[in-house]
Amino acid sequence: QEERHMESTNPATGEVIDEYETHDEDDVEQRLDAAAETASSWADTSIEQRQELLSDAADVLRDGADEYAELMTSEMGKPITEARAEVEKCAWVCDYYAERADEHLQDEVIGSEPESKTFVSYEPLGPVLSIMPWNFPFWQVFRFVAPALAAGNTSVLKHASNVPGCALAIEDIFAEAGAPEGALSTLLIGSDRVDGVIADDRIRAVTLTGSEGAGRAVAASAGRNLKKHVLELGGSDPFVVLDDADLDAAIETGVQARTLNSGQSCIAAKRFVVHDDVYDEFEERFVEQMQALTVGDPMEEETDVGPQARQDLMEDLHEQVTATADAGATIRCGGEPLDREGAFYPPTVVTDVPRDAPMATEEVFGPAAALFRVEDAEAAVELANDTHLGLGASIWTEDLERGERLARRIDAGATFVNELVKSDPRLPFGGIKDSGYGRELSHMGIREFVNRKTVWVQ
Ligand code: NAP
Repeated sequence: QEERHMESTNPATGEVIDEYETHDEDDVEQRLDAAAETASSWADTSIEQRQELLSDAADVLRDGADEYAELMTSEMGKPITEARAEVEKCAWVCDYYAERADEHLQDEVIGSEPESKTFVSYEPLGPVLSIMPWNFPFWQVFRFVAPALAAGNTSVLKHASNVPGCALAIEDIFAEAGAPEGALSTLLIGSDRVDGVIADDRIRAVTLTGSEGAGRAVAASAGRNLKKHVLELGGSDPFVVLDDADLDAAIETGVQARTLNSGQSCIAAKRFVVHDDVYDEFEERFVEQMQALTVGDPMEEETDVGPQARQDLMEDLHEQVTATADAGATIRCGGEPLDREGAFYPPTVVTDVPRDAPMATEEVFGPAAALFRVEDAEAAVELANDTHLGLGASIWTEDLERGERLARRIDAGATFVNELVKSDPRLPFGGIKDSGYGRELSHMGIREFVNRKTVWVQ
């Protein structure tokens, strides 16, 4: 007998906030049917009509911003000011595709010879399964679903099991904005049931944002079923500070880049690669500023760092820090879970990190920074690229030409010079190596889940 139960727990207090019954086979059937039925009518709507839906969804988001922000903070613990910003960013991506989807999906004319005309048209694929993580429980979903709906697809959402409230709220947002039933529906199911959904004929493609392990499982399943898929997986982004960097800006932004979302971001700066000439000053001031952050109740406006999203994730993080120290590294600050209720881990800085220690080789999903000293820019590039992951990278130098030159040599899906890595609806987002494949956002994201149909007319 399968367990039909899901609950959300407030990680700041350990309290169970709500309990949900998971969807049984009949519920899943009904939702897949609705997604498939609506897919044909939705594909026939005009692009203007779909853009209108997104614009209305943006309004619903803005009207309910406080409520949605509180829901996210209570289910996964992100600081409330960041939760509000996340709702606004979701409205932005809806507005972006409400304004630009028609342009991004215009036919691409290839030849117009007198005897024949050839072009590519972008047509919907049908229902796309989206499997999403808890760390940006609204943003991750919206950045996929806004372009997917604009392109004429429908979607079923399998959200992370610790944020069922967010999953259902997102379904309601689209219903309130006027989406037909089945345009976006949530499946409250555990990850053990994903394979069966991928295999279902009604599902035409799959997208996953999550860990490497989930990526391998979903890719294998999608491969077996010959279904197009996109993978947005983990990162171990380098933050490279060169000898001619503006240190004030690099330190302030570096602290932010490591601790945003209490350190639980795929594109957080995780490995700080610092030139020998500025290393000592960087380390001292970086530690000072990490220690100055306010850790506490994520519902409070002044909180910079809240709890980790789940107790077990905090324990994994602590194990990585401890094993790195055992391998010979130095803990400059933090390094022990806080002695209070809730999954609180303090801003932590670890130096002298051996190249084979967990904090050098694995993704560190929490507010713990690994610092490395390098003797020149060449060594910085070498160390930055010494990882099986390749999501983002940030380089700090006052010489913009040098920054641009080095940016091209970093193995990553995105490199930012003198700025932290961030996602932006106008820019493609995605990784290389074990960080995944495919792109989200911009004109590239909206063209991932479409049939790029070649048409020859003679
Ligand atoms: P996760 O454990 O991989 O979970 C992500 C989603 O995948 C959840 O819905 C989860 O469901 C599901 N899942 C897990 N194992 C699965 C399997 N074997 N088959 C099918 N589905 C499976 O990741 P997380 O802890 O939520 O998120 C953190 C990870 O996501 C980090 O590695 C982070 O870097 C990555 N991430 C990447 C990006 C990006 O854009 N590249 C953005 C954000 C996060 P359950 O919850 O039911 O297990």
